[in-house]
Amino acid sequence: MSPSSESGSAFRVGVVGGGISGLSAAHRLLELGEETARPIEVTLFERQQRLGGMVGTERVEGYLLERGGDMFVTDKPWAVELAERLELGSRIIGTEARYRRSLVVHEGRPTSVPPGFMLMAPARIGSMLRTPILSWGGKLRMGLDLVLPRGSADDETVADFVTRRFGRQVLDRLVQPLVGGIYTADPEKLSLRATLPRFLEMEAEHRSLYLGARARARTAARQPATAQSDSGARYGMFVSFEDGMAELMNALEHKLREGARVKTATDVLRLSRGAEEDWCLHYRAEDEGEEVEERFDALILAVPTYAAAALLGELTPQLSSQLGAIEYASSIVVASGHRLEDIEHPLQAFGMVVPIVEKRGVLAVSFSSRKFPGRAPEGRVLLRSFVGGALQPQLCELDDAAVEQLVTDELRALLGVRGPPDFMRIMRYHRAMPQYHLGHLERVTAIEKRVETHRGLALAGNAYRGVGIPDCIHSGECGAERIARYI
Ligand SMILES: Cc1cc2nc3c(=O)[nH]c(=O)nc-3n(C[C@H](O)[C@H](O)[C@H](O)COP(=O)(O)OP(=O)(O)OC[C@H]3O[C@@H](n4cnc5c(N)ncnc54)[C@H](O)[C@@H]3O)c2cc1C
Repeated sequence: MSPSSESGSAFRVGVVGGGISGLSAAHRLLELGEETARPIEVTLFERQQRLGGMVGTERVEGYLLERGGDMFVTDKPWAVELAERLELGSRIIGTEARYRRSLVVHEGRPTSVPPGFMLMAPARIGSMLRTPILSWGGKLRMGLDLVLPRGSADDETVADFVTRRFGRQVLDRLVQPLVGGIYTADPEKLSLRATLPRFLEMEAEHRSLYLGARARARTAARQPATAQSDSGARYGMFVSFEDGMAELMNALEHKLREGARVKTATDVLRLSRGAEEDWCLHYRAEDEGEEVEERFDALILAVPTYAAAALLGELTPQLSSQLGAIEYASSIVVASGHRLEDIEHPLQAFGMVVPIVEKRGVLAVSFSSRKFPGRAPEGRVLLRSFVGGALQPQLCELDDAAVEQLVTDELRALLGVRGPPDFMRIMRYHRAMPQYHLGHLERVTAIEKRVETHRGLALAGNAYRGVGIPDCIHSGECGAERIARYI
C-alpha cells in the first residue's frame, strides 16, 4: 500500500522537472488542492540547483540578462492569467513602441522586413513591391498568391506551403529566417499545422494569404494603437516583467516553497510501479549520494521527451519509443553588453534575423534592451546572438573561445560593433528546442492516448502543443488538472 492510501490522508503527486512547465503544474496542483476533498501533497524534483530550467534572469554589470525566453505573447492567455493569480499583473511591461520593427540580413546588410509582412503573409502590396529583399521575378511569383487555388487539407511543411503560395525566394529570404528564429528549426521538416496553424486557417478562409493578412490587419487596426507596429507585426502582444522573467519564476518558487516539497539538485533516475499501482520514483540528491525510492499516487513528467522516454522505458516501452521519436535542436545564445558609441548601426529595431542563404555564423541577433526598458545601463545596449539550431548544428560543437570569436566577427561585420564589450556570456541549450516535424500533431495525439491508459500519469512541456512560455504553462496546468481528476 502506498503511504498515502495507508494514512488515507494526502494524495501524493511527484512532479519531475522544475522548468516553467513543472513549476506551473506544481503550482496548479496547490491551487486545486484547496478545492479537493482530499489534500494534495506535491513534491517537485529538479536536477539543477536552481529552478526555472531554460527561463531565468541575472544581473551582470548593470545589465538585466535573460537566460532563455525574454518575453511572452498575450494572445495565448495562460501566462498573463498565471501572473495575475500570483499578483504580478501590475509588473507586466509592454515593448518599446519606438523600436517596433525587425530587420533581416540581405546581401550582408541588415534590411527592414517589409512593413506589413506578418511572419508568413504580406498585408501590404506596396511594401512588398518596394523591398530590395526580393528580385522582380520573386515579387511576381509572390503575386501569384492572389490567384492560386487553396491547397489540400493535408499537413505540409512550412517550406512546401510557402513555396506553393509565394515561391522559393520568399521562403529563403524571409520566412526561413523569421520562422527559424522562433523554432530554431528546418522549415523543410517543420509541420505547418503544428507550428503556425493560423496561416492554414487564413488560406482556408480567404484562399489568398495576402487577402487573409489584410483582413487580419483591418481587425487589428480597430484595436488600441499600442498593439500596432510599423511593420504590421503585433508587437504590443509581447510582454515581460519589469525585472525580467525571474519575477514569474520567483513568485512560483515562493508559493511552492510554502506549500510543497521542493527538491532541487535531485536527479530522478527511474520509475517503477508499486504493488498498489502507485508510482515508485527513484532519485538521488546531490548531497545525499544514495539512491532513494519514494512512492506517489500520481506523477507529472515535465521534462524533455527524451528524458521522459528514459524514465518510462522499463514500464512502457511503446510510450517511451513514441516520446523518443521527437527530435530536438541545440543552440547557443551569446549575450553581450556594448557602449552604443561602439556600434555603427543605429539599432532602431527589436532585432535582426539572418537567412541561411546568407551563409553567416549567427541565426539572429536580438537587440534586447531595445525591446524592454531597464535591460541596459544608459548609453549601453544588450545584444543576444543566436548560434546553431537545426540548420547549423555543427556550430554548437565549437568551444567557448571559438563561439566568442565567431559572434564578435559577425557583430562587427553585420552591425559594425567595435571595441571590447562590457561582458560576453555564452549560454548553451543542448537539445532544448523540440522540432515539430511533419506529422507532429498525430504523434502527440498518439502519445496522449497512450498516457490515458496509465492511471495517475501526466506529461507536460514544450514538446507537445506549443514551445512558448504560455504554452508550457498551459501544458503544466492541464497536466495538474488531469491528475486532480483522479482524486
Ligand atoms: C534560447 C531560447 C530562447 C527562448 N525564447 C523564448 C521567448 O522569448 N518566449 C517564449 O515564450 N519562449 C521562448 N523559448 C521557449 C521556452 O523558453 C521553453 O520552451 C520553455 O522554457 C521550456 O520549459 P520546460 O519547463 O518545458 O522545459 P525546461 O526549461 O527544459 O525544464 C525541464 C527541467 O527538467 C529538468 N530535468 C530533466 N530531467 C530530469 C530528471 N531526470 N530529474 C530531475 N529533473 C530533470 C531539467 O533540469 C530542467 O530544469 C526560448 C527557448 C530558448 C532555448
